[in-house]
Amino acid sequence: MMPPTIIIGSGITGLTCAHILARAGQAMRVLDKGRDIGGRMATKRADAAGLALSYDHGAQYLRPRDTDFGAFLARHGAVSWSDADPLHLVGQPGMSALPRAIAKGLDVAQGVEVLGLRHAQGLWHLETNLGPLQAQRVVLTIPAPQALRLLGPDHPLAPELERVRMAPCLTLMASFPTGSPTPFTTWRDADHPLAWIAQDNSKPGRPDDVITWIAQASPDYSAAHLEDTPDTILSKMLPLLCTVLGTPPEQALHAQVHRWRYAQAVQPLGRPFLHAPQLYIGGDWCLGPRAEDGWRSGRAMAHAILGGADAV
Ligand SMILES: Cc1cc2nc3c(=O)[nH]c(=O)nc-3n(C[C@H](O)[C@H](O)[C@H](O)COP(=O)(O)OP(=O)(O)OC[C@H]3O[C@@H](n4cnc5c(N)ncnc54)[C@H](O)[C@@H]3O)c2cc1C
Repeated sequence: MMPPTIIIGSGITGLTCAHILARAGQAMRVLDKGRDIGGRMATKRADAAGLALSYDHGAQYLRPRDTDFGAFLARHGAVSWSDADPLHLVGQPGMSALPRAIAKGLDVAQGVEVLGLRHAQGLWHLETNLGPLQAQRVVLTIPAPQALRLLGPDHPLAPELERVRMAPCLTLMASFPTGSPTPFTTWRDADHPLAWIAQDNSKPGRPDDVITWIAQASPDYSAAHLEDTPDTILSKMLPLLCTVLGTPPEQALHAQVHRWRYAQAVQPLGRPFLHAPQLYIGGDWCLGPRAEDGWRSGRAMAHAILGGADAV
């Protein structure tokens, strides 16, 4: 049966919207092109040297400003990263545990990429890698530049989407044997090519048989090297990390990089979502650079739908 609402994107924005709609008894389906639920609230797994490794290579932690967001996270298993800052909340065993908990009981399909979106005869027609789908209402929660590509430059909301700017982030994941230097838990230096470094395994619930690090390149460094190959980026970022840590690069048990093309909004939209008949477009980029901004956007869209902004 055709769901009245299709939500595109299983990041925190889409899942928050879905969660509120489901609690109000509304049927919906969430589609996402990725392998795992959660979008940029992500945990990468790898095997090396006989060890099962995991890295939070997207959002590092959540620091709720809105007490409702704090309560929402606590209900879905967030715990304090007390080694860094007791106010920093994380999922365990990885950040992706949070979106997975929010998605419990929802109809979420991963591996479904929406390639085209067209409104005709009162219905949305979705072209996907698995074939055509229809819905009465679409909630689009993908990064603004991707939403713009999907809707096309002639869509009436295109000028609003064009105003949003998102910065890339090159992220290095690296593991070292226990006993190797751990000079800090987190490190921030806006003037260094690696603007943020964190000892990922210092978060609660992570394995203690290996030391894992995340290093995020600064927005300028990321933009300058975004089109380099992963091997080239790795060959530059790993020595930078090792210099800061005081560890020889040869000691790394595993290292890889991830290129986030649309990591965080640097010029947000300035309101919680965009709306056209039977279409809602939201995401963190509406309000700011953090997951909490996605939660606020998703919540606002759900409340607008439940309030009958365009009753299906
Ligand atoms: C490196 C990095 C570090 C960060 N650090 C922090 C932090 O410490 N604290 C914090 O609060 N925030 C942080 N953020 C930001 C935070 O991750 C985001 O604000 C939040 O996860 C965005 O959620 P979202 O649902 O709006 O978008 P996303 O999580 O990007 O979800 C969008 C989803 O849409 C899917 N999608 C895209 N196109 C299609 C398509 N055509 N068809 C189907 N599916 C599609 C994607 O697969 C994705 O799952 C960080 C982000 C990055 C990248």
